[in-house]
Amino acid sequence: MSRTKDASPSTKEKKARAPKDPHLRCRAYKFRVYPTKKQAGKLEWMLRRCKELYNAALEERREAYRRCGISISYRMQAEQLPAIKQLREEYQDIHSQVLQDVLRRLDKAFQAFFRRVMNGEEPGYPRFKSGDRYHSITYPQGGFEILHGNRLHLCKVGHIKIKLHRAMKGKVKTCTIKREGEQWYAIVTCEYVHDASMTFHPSEQEVGVDLGVKVFAMLSTGEAIENPRHLREEEYKIAAAHRTIHRRKKGSHRRHRAKKALARVYRKVRNRRRDFHHKTSRKLVQQYQVIVFEDLQIKNLTATPKPKQDEATGLYLPNGEAAKAGLNKSILDAGWGGFVRLCASKAEEAGGTVVKVAPHFTSQLCSGCGAVVPKDLSVRWHCCPNCGVELDRDHNAARNILHRFQQNQPLGAGSVPQKPVPLRGEEPIL
Ligand SMILES: [Zn+2]
Repeated sequence: MSRTKDASPSTKEKKARAPKDPHLRCRAYKFRVYPTKKQAGKLEWMLRRCKELYNAALEERREAYRRCGISISYRMQAEQLPAIKQLREEYQDIHSQVLQDVLRRLDKAFQAFFRRVMNGEEPGYPRFKSGDRYHSITYPQGGFEILHGNRLHLCKVGHIKIKLHRAMKGKVKTCTIKREGEQWYAIVTCEYVHDASMTFHPSEQEVGVDLGVKVFAMLSTGEAIENPRHLREEEYKIAAAHRTIHRRKKGSHRRHRAKKALARVYRKVRNRRRDFHHKTSRKLVQQYQVIVFEDLQIKNLTATPKPKQDEATGLYLPNGEAAKAGLNKSILDAGWGGFVRLCASKAEEAGGTVVKVAPHFTSQLCSGCGAVVPKDLSVRWHCCPNCGVELDRDHNAARNILHRFQQNQPLGAGSVPQKPVPLRGEEPIL
């Protein structure tokens, strides 16, 4: 009986979600907010309570499964919220939808876990959150309002000063309050209807882009976009800040201060990188109607190489891990995934397109004649013995990427025009 009761709302939910307007787009805007000391204290307190709830809900799911083999759903946990509020009165001081959102986040973490198990990936069970790993709370529907152009009203917190540095487009849907070191931000998502017929791109040029390690991007025109290497530049500062933390006693005020300092350095790196991505993607989108990328599985590129063992002696052989580690860092530093998403969303606005093509052999094939010219990662120059084409390695790859799109070869899964991905409010934290 109870089972059918649980099943019906979820199917209803699915039905409600299905007929979504295909032109509906979601966009996130990030604004700095300036809470007073008292308000910041309240927000911190809310973050701690939400973290507690998250961990308790995770514990409940884990124990129920471990002891009785029962899977607990989001709805079952959400139904307990009123009882929790009775028992722990302080939770009445937090907007109920914020608490529901905490449980929904946990549910998402579990869904992702189950999906990974199904796909045979490394599962990674959802983790308990420590205080400094819980940074944000979300008002998923109501409980917040933007007033008079410089005030954000948050339910149970009050009027907070907000810097609305740009206009929002569409209907405001959700509001996330996020702590980044000592600063606070509001991430507001808006929904709007995108009308493709209203956008027109003035150019018909197409470009292939090879995202690389040596340079950030190489275009099929031969133009190189240099990598600013923010992380490398600030690497010393980051390493020093990490060392300071480790030197200091756990739980001490000084350690807490050192953590704040580290968060400041990371924020700076993040902001500089985002700025670079915005400017670069804007330039590309303005100049080209079609931008072609390879469909790189960044996770595969950044995975640690498997240890190689000598069959006869059992000794471990060099597996290129040291070289790969440096490469990994550069890839993460460059933040390709976010860059491609930015290009996609900007292109859509401007009437252009971003396309991904299968990545296989783009650096090994000759872009002049199509012959296979095998080369190591260390070989930076493409020199074709067949047709005599001589090019930079990445330039050759970028030309191949463009050709692949133009010839519309039978490609892998990534060859379909990429659906523009909405901007995410939350960036992956380094
Ligand atoms: Zn050739």
